[in-house]
Amino acid sequence: MPFSSPHTDAVAERELALLAPYAMFSALSAGRKFSEPSHPYRGPFQRDRDRIVHSTAYRRLSGKTQVFTREMGDFHRTRLTHTHEVASVSRTIGRALRLNEDLVEALALMHDLGHPPFGHAGEDVLHECTKDHGGFSHNRQALRIVEIIEQRYPDFPGLNLSFEVLAGQQSRVVKRGAAQRPILEVQVVDAADSIAYDTHDVDDALQLGLLTHEELAEVPLWRQATDRVRARYQGLDDGELRRATLHELIDWQIGDMLAAAMRRLEAGNIDCLAAVCEAPLIVAFEPELTELKNELEKFLYDRVYRNPLVVASRRIAQDQLRAMFHGYCKRPEKMPESFQTRVAEYGLERSVCDYLAGMTDRFCQQEFQRFFAA
Ligand code: MG
Repeated sequence: MPFSSPHTDAVAERELALLAPYAMFSALSAGRKFSEPSHPYRGPFQRDRDRIVHSTAYRRLSGKTQVFTREMGDFHRTRLTHTHEVASVSRTIGRALRLNEDLVEALALMHDLGHPPFGHAGEDVLHECTKDHGGFSHNRQALRIVEIIEQRYPDFPGLNLSFEVLAGQQSRVVKRGAAQRPILEVQVVDAADSIAYDTHDVDDALQLGLLTHEELAEVPLWRQATDRVRARYQGLDDGELRRATLHELIDWQIGDMLAAAMRRLEAGNIDCLAAVCEAPLIVAFEPELTELKNELEKFLYDRVYRNPLVVASRRIAQDQLRAMFHGYCKRPEKMPESFQTRVAEYGLERSVCDYLAGMTDRFCQQEFQRFFAA
C-alpha cells in the first residue's frame, strides 16, 4: 500500500510537486520480493539507497582498483570515489530533468558493487576460470550481492531492494537487443558513468605522469576544452590548466547531454514512463560529442590502459587471482565457513568465485601470500 501513512503521503506529495510526468514515482513502485511495511519517514528508493550505503560490498569499494592499483599512488580514484563521482553527476542530471533523485542515487551507488579486486583485470580472470560454470560479469555479480550474498537482515537474504533498482542493474547485464529502453533514471546513471570515467581517467593519468599535456593535445575533445579554458584565463600553470579543463569537460558533457535529452523528450512527446520505454534512447550525447568521446577513449585505451606500468601490475594481479581460484577449488576449507556452506547450494566454482570477487585488492594479495605463494 503506497499511501498507508501520513509520511508516505508526504513522499508522494513531494514527488508530485517536483518530478516530471516521465519520472519514476515511488507510488508506482512494484515493491520488493519480500513485502515490507512502508517506512514512517523514508520513501522506498531512499531506503534502497541507504541499504546499499550500509552494505559490506559498498564499503569494500574503497579498497578496489578503478584503473590504477594502490602500488601506483595514494591519490587516484578507487572504485568508491568513482562511484561517488557517478552519483554526483547522476544527481545533477536527474534533478535538471526532474527525475526521482533517490532512485538515481540508489542506482548510481549500486552500479559498480559487483567489481572484483583489480577491476576489469580481475573480472577477466574470474570469467575465464568460471567459463564452464556460467562465467562472471561485474554487472551480474552486483545482482548476486544484493539478492543473495549480503546477509544483513533477519527477515530476508540480500538487501531486498525495490524491483526498479534490480531492473535497472539487470538492464546493464542485457544491454544489447533489449526489447525496451530502461527508465530515464537508469539511462542517466549510464551516461554519468561515462562522463565520470572519461574525465577522471585523464586526470589520474596526468597526475601519475602516464600522460603529458602535450600528448593530450592530440585529442580533439581535450584540445577544445583546453582552448575554451585558455580563452577565459591567462597564465595558468599545468596543474591549474588540468583542473580547469576537467571542470570544463564535465560541464560540457552534462550540458550537451541535457540539451539533447530535453530536445528528445519534447520531440517525442514523452509524457509518461511507458512512452520512455518505447522511445529510442533519450539520455545520450549528441553525435558530435559521442564521436569526440570515442576518440578520447581510444587514446586512453592505447596510451593509458595499455601503458606498460599498468599492464605489468595487471598481469601480476591476474596470475595471483587465477592461482587463488584453483587453489581454493582444491582446498575449499581455506575459505571462511560461510562460503564453504554455500558450496552445496551454488557449487564449488561459483562459491569460490563469490568469495574472491568480494575481496579488496589488499586482502586478496594478503591471502595469496598466506596460502598460495610459492
Ligand atoms: Mg562505473
